[in-house]
Amino acid sequence: MTPSTLGPLALCAVLRGPSNCLHYRIPDRIRATNLVGRRVLVPLGYREAVALVVDVGDQAPAEVIRGGLKDIRAVVDDEAVLPMDLLALCRWISSYYFHPLPSVLEAVLPSSLLAHPRRRYRLTAEGRAGLLQGAQQETKTLGARVLEEALLEREEVGLEDFETFPKGWKAHLKRLESLGWVTSAYTWPSLEPSVKRVRVIVLKEDPPEKRVASSPHLRRFLAFLRDSGGACPFGDLRRQVPQAPYWVKKLAAEGFLTVEEREFLRESPMAQDLASGPPYELTPEQKAAIEAMEGAVRSPCFKPFVLYGVTGSGKTEIYLRLVEKTVALGRTALVLVPEIALSTQVEAVFRARFGESLAVWHSGLASGVRDDQWRKMTSGRTAVVLGVRSAVLSPIRNLGLIIVDEEHDSSYKQEERLRYHARDVAVMRARIAGVPVILGSATPSLQSFHHGRTGRYALVTLLKRVEDRPLPHIQIVDMRRHRGPFRVLSPELQKALDETLENDGQAMLFLNRRGFASFFLCRACGAVLQCPHCAVSLTYHQSLERVLCHYCGHEEAVPGVCPTCTKGIMIPFGFGTERVEEELRRQFPHVKTLRVDRDAMTCPAKLVQTLDAFRSRKAHVMVGTQMITKGHDFPHVTLVGVINADTSLQISDFRAGETTAQLLMQVAGRAGRGEKPGRVIIQTYNPHHYVIQAAAAMDYGHFCEHELASRRTLQYPPFTRLARLLVTGPQETATAHAASELGRIAREAKADWESRGIPLAVLGPAPAPLHKLKKRFRYNLYVKAWRAEVLQSFVENILDGVSHGAVFEAVRVAVDRDPVSSL
Ligand code: ADP
Ligand code: ZN
Repeated sequence: MTPSTLGPLALCAVLRGPSNCLHYRIPDRIRATNLVGRRVLVPLGYREAVALVVDVGDQAPAEVIRGGLKDIRAVVDDEAVLPMDLLALCRWISSYYFHPLPSVLEAVLPSSLLAHPRRRYRLTAEGRAGLLQGAQQETKTLGARVLEEALLEREEVGLEDFETFPKGWKAHLKRLESLGWVTSAYTWPSLEPSVKRVRVIVLKEDPPEKRVASSPHLRRFLAFLRDSGGACPFGDLRRQVPQAPYWVKKLAAEGFLTVEEREFLRESPMAQDLASGPPYELTPEQKAAIEAMEGAVRSPCFKPFVLYGVTGSGKTEIYLRLVEKTVALGRTALVLVPEIALSTQVEAVFRARFGESLAVWHSGLASGVRDDQWRKMTSGRTAVVLGVRSAVLSPIRNLGLIIVDEEHDSSYKQEERLRYHARDVAVMRARIAGVPVILGSATPSLQSFHHGRTGRYALVTLLKRVEDRPLPHIQIVDMRRHRGPFRVLSPELQKALDETLENDGQAMLFLNRRGFASFFLCRACGAVLQCPHCAVSLTYHQSLERVLCHYCGHEEAVPGVCPTCTKGIMIPFGFGTERVEEELRRQFPHVKTLRVDRDAMTCPAKLVQTLDAFRSRKAHVMVGTQMITKGHDFPHVTLVGVINADTSLQISDFRAGETTAQLLMQVAGRAGRGEKPGRVIIQTYNPHHYVIQAAAAMDYGHFCEHELASRRTLQYPPFTRLARLLVTGPQETATAHAASELGRIAREAKADWESRGIPLAVLGPAPAPLHKLKKRFRYNLYVKAWRAEVLQSFVENILDGVSHGAVFEAVRVAVDRDPVSSL
């Protein structure tokens, strides 16, 4: 067949189907419409499946045409289910991160749109008459009889009924269909069922002042309505205000309010309304930053900015003003934050300014809420999306601005399945949409800093804190001088705590390790208690009286004797946040402490509660992991203590210096944000390490220059491009074998490419630092290229080899492009 006789074709991503996209013919009867972005019903083997049309054209590869093309059976949607720029973004993600497009779309679409259609059966008039006359009962199976009864009794039967039917119904159904006694139709999965219509009370006019003044209940009733923006669901009113039904009836009769049936959108449960004061008078630096960026907002064009502003310089206010400008121009804004539960203050100020038009997007959204938000965004009722990593894939239309707050944060990198970096995807989304993107941080990633320095991104700097508040004073404590088995608090830190508490200040103590003790060691044989599924030691949690694996969640009782030699006593070594808290209680028995880590914070609500308690000074000291370093603004914190600055320095990764510097400066940045100046004490065994010294000087720019120079020498990113190929499998030898075969393929390809003058580097394979995880063995192979396009085709080249090799059948090969973790 030649292309001209093929007619129009659709490239379709079958949802929850094969990993590659498939071509289908568009039959004449549906030819006129533009199908891109809509779901269609297609034949797939012996079944039918729902697919999303990702492209239309009249070309297909020769082998596809030879294999025969099938027709699209039906069109599901009247219009595209996602915006076109989001579809384009998905296609880019699929190719850049080497991830199948159907699987990218599955991560983007709400689950109710992914479901397959359900066929429902009903009797025809003829069928009903036939069954009622009653054909030969005795020859029928039990299943057939149950089917007939169900058809006669109910309007329709479908899958959920069949599940309960005894054997024999299927053949009988086919028979009835061929007789013309039964017809079938599809019901499409859609967002619809989750819409709730509720009665909403709408205030039309205020009753006379005198009357309101004389009735406290009426006053409360009206205040509640006004606080809800003049309209609120009847259910909420009844729960919150006494005598609400009475007032509704009375005021409606008098014409002061109306009762309307409305579509009601469920909001995320984290939503909370905190009042915020009037907008600030901007500082000169804030003003200059806004001026530098607002041109690109006013007449939107793709332009990336790095907003490099020290902690407490008022970046949030800058975001707010620019988002306001965007919304005023009738466009929408997407604001990404590392973790919603840790960003309640940001959420509160955004909610105060944007109210109903704000959608909050986090990973824990219930699917009904997710459906509602999807509907709200695709219908254009959302002006601002505030959300975590996955919000970069939200279906917001008519974008005018993207902001990535704390852009250096590692939570923007997804480390499983679709391994994407939300900051990089955000930049690409801005490029596709043709809008500005702001990457904000007090400690920008070296990559963004480099782009800012070389002019590829525009660099906007804020050097001062608001109201000229000083940056905190930093003191390094050399822990080598304080030997002793388990020294948690140095005398310097103890003294500082004493002084802080005496002056009515608050303190934060940071340690990036949870639990009580890091590991158990056998006194007799030296064996360390290990997780049976992962190559890591188990951490002791005193509050649980158990040992836990922080990677897979495995837990067991504390062993009495060593399981290896069955003789020695096991003793705990090292310490975590739980131990720090105990130490505090022992040395400062009258001080109220809070602990914030993944163990203590069992749900997001608890975290919000705890942070609020600390903000309102219900406790004096907060101990925590990196959860306490991110973005918080606690004005009464005057002391920050870093219990051990060395933990993240010891990781064997070329980014160890960068992440440690960011962590130390972020945690130090929590001190002295209010009226009183702050101080920071950093405990370390490496007081002269350049990273510790840089943190002490609070000079991130200088640190970056130094670090970039060494990255250039060693030819690491951002000067080169990396991809990690991760081979995992359940058997150690088979996995090792596959990894070395992968290495061979890569080296062969490299030799070939280099003979054409294209430089490349292949490193490994080597066992991953986390050699075993969740019962699977892991090997890393790194590929380095000097240009992104080269890396792209080179990795494609290697993966092609993998798809043909038998040794790879027992393993998985995942590509981690621009890897952040080496584990
Ligand atoms: P950053 O994100 O840069 O660390 P924030 O945006 O959290 O800083 O601002 C720090 C504090 O300063 C917040 O409490 C904020 O409300 C306040 N703030 C912001 N802008 C101003 C201003 N122009 N004048 C006074 N206070 C301000
Ligand atoms: Zn484990």
